[in-house]
Amino acid sequence: MGKVGLGLAVGCAVASCAIAAVMVGRRVRSRRRWWWVVRVFDEFEEAASTPVGRLRQVVDAMAVEMHAGLASEGGSKLKMLLTFVDNLPDGSENGIFYALHVGGTNFRLLRIQLGGQRAILGHDVERKPIPQHLMTSTSEELFDFIALSLKEFVERKGNNLQISQVRGRDLGLTFSFPVKQMSVSSGTLIKWTKGFSIEDMVGKDIVECLQKALSRRGLDMTVAALVNDSVGTLALGHFYDKDTVAAVVIGTGTNACYLERADAVIKCQGLLTTSGGMVINMEWGNFWSSHLPRTSYDIDLDAESQNPNDQGFEKMISGMYLGDIVRRVILRMSLESDIFGPVSSKLLARFVLSTPSMAAMHEDDSPNLSEVAKILEETLDIHDVPLKVRKLVVKICDVVTRRAARLAAAGIVGILKKIGRDGTGGITSGRIKSGKSGKMRRTVVAVDGGLYTSYTMFREYLNAAVAEILGEEIAPYVILKVMEDGSGIGAAMLAASNSAQSVDTVQVL
Ligand code: ADP
Ligand code: MG
Repeated sequence: MGKVGLGLAVGCAVASCAIAAVMVGRRVRSRRRWWWVVRVFDEFEEAASTPVGRLRQVVDAMAVEMHAGLASEGGSKLKMLLTFVDNLPDGSENGIFYALHVGGTNFRLLRIQLGGQRAILGHDVERKPIPQHLMTSTSEELFDFIALSLKEFVERKGNNLQISQVRGRDLGLTFSFPVKQMSVSSGTLIKWTKGFSIEDMVGKDIVECLQKALSRRGLDMTVAALVNDSVGTLALGHFYDKDTVAAVVIGTGTNACYLERADAVIKCQGLLTTSGGMVINMEWGNFWSSHLPRTSYDIDLDAESQNPNDQGFEKMISGMYLGDIVRRVILRMSLESDIFGPVSSKLLARFVLSTPSMAAMHEDDSPNLSEVAKILEETLDIHDVPLKVRKLVVKICDVVTRRAARLAAAGIVGILKKIGRDGTGGITSGRIKSGKSGKMRRTVVAVDGGLYTSYTMFREYLNAAVAEILGEEIAPYVILKVMEDGSGIGAAMLAASNSAQSVDTVQVL
């Protein structure tokens, strides 16, 4: 070998060593990045974990806060609002009733025909998205849109009924935002949630606003019941099954209500109801406890939200937020590694990943996770990620959904504890009693909301967690029943039982 040949061979060896070194370096770096991302995931999973012991602490905190909210106005983050609903439908209701449901992504119009003996003879529902601009416009514009939609609905669905023939018809209004109720058919808006923000509406009587809009459109109908969506769900649950004592809605937002003894409503002395009970609207989305497993992603989500320091429980549980928590975890991983390729600008946009899209990734059962790849591409502009990264995305979705479902389950058991239906000693004077109680009674909780009804993994995690917290002895007594569209139908039923013909049964002495 000549000098030139030797030089060439040495040069080649040096070059290939350098290339090899670069490749090994890259692999090591990429392994380090993967290792780093796994660490970020593990930290998140740990911070969001919900072992049954922690869930039981949440159960107790919920029961204690409920008591505090009933003891005094402002005594808890739980508002524990009086609904003035004391008699729930029992299946004997008869006639045609309408209801409107305002409170989230979709606005709903309903018409039901009741035939007594727990029979619903006819049931029409129409969903309409509320145009985005109306969510932040004026109350007049929003209610004009609602009144016009109702008028068109009555004309379409009324079996050729003329508008004049619906004169005097009773209407149920489900309004799923916090409302301070003055009677079963009047109440003022306390605050907006779920992306709505119409300043002039806060403090106004919702029924008055709707009633005025109805007259502007020439519709002679009377709002006989103003209820929260959870109260509507409880009403429908009770219509079918008289052991229904509570209702939970988990959709865009989340809320719960339950049947309380009137004498337990300490903040309203002298509350007299015919039944001795009253439905309490908990506004549980605002529940807070130091036992809730809060992560840095929750803190950021809250800080950047329209309502910081508000609706803390809702922000961990409901459909409005779950997709965004997942996005935030992916964003951090993308910023701190290259496993998702260059940082996608779409990933920076709040709420770009909706909860249904997140659920579709979570429930992707194709062997190569093609749905995950598709959603990452189409929604987040993230392309060509390897299978192990797609699997990691599924795990992130799982952590977020599992936590949400299990916390909602703890909330439900908290309600049962407050009313002595969880098989333990319950709660007296704001203190948790330990030990077992006497006989357990069959107890039904009505559940509605898209997250529970349409997201199978969420529903299964929630059901399993309720059983896990209660234990195998008590769990068989507690039944969760889906009441799809319960909020609207139930409101129409409450319009039936609270129509002008019926007497006022609630008095505050
Ligand atoms: P709203 O709460 O707006 O009155 P719904 O009770 O129908 O209406 O709930 C709708 C919400 O439920 C959506 O915003 C979404 O977050 C969630 N959702 C609906 N379908 C699914 C699904 N298939 N998977 C996951 N979440 C869903
Ligand atoms: Mg709803």
